[in-house]
Amino acid sequence: MADCLFCGIISGEIKGEIVYQDSSVVAFKDINPKAPVHLLIVPRKHIATLLDVEQGDKGLFGDILFAASKLARDHGISEDGFRVVLNCGAGAGQSVFHIHLHLLGGRALRWPPG
Ligand code: AMP
Ligand code: ZN
Repeated sequence: MADCLFCGIISGEIKGEIVYQDSSVVAFKDINPKAPVHLLIVPRKHIATLLDVEQGDKGLFGDILFAASKLARDHGISEDGFRVVLNCGAGAGQSVFHIHLHLLGGRALRWPPG
């Protein structure tokens, strides 16, 4: 989608530190990391928010979660615990309207999040 930052990173028009990609999912380092490991996992398909997910996207979200599990292991945060976060809407802190999972780890994580 034009003017979407994450579509730009997926297509290569905008520089991103991509750490994983397959036919449906791309993962890259967050530019402003909130933890020693902070990756963003996005579908190649432009979906703005969780509220825009359609019936036909259900398998895609299995792919995204499977990638999160693999990336947690590959980035050495699986044993100590890690978190996946999906902000939906500006009130929850969503600032980029291409759906993404945050994968955070490498430090103690408090609960509940702020
Ligand atoms: P959210 O606030 O949940 O929408 O998350 C958006 C995330 O995108 C934030 O953690 C930002 O630091 C991150 N971000 C913004 N611009 C870039 C970029 N060019 N490359 C990588 N991550 C980015
Ligand atoms: Zn997009």
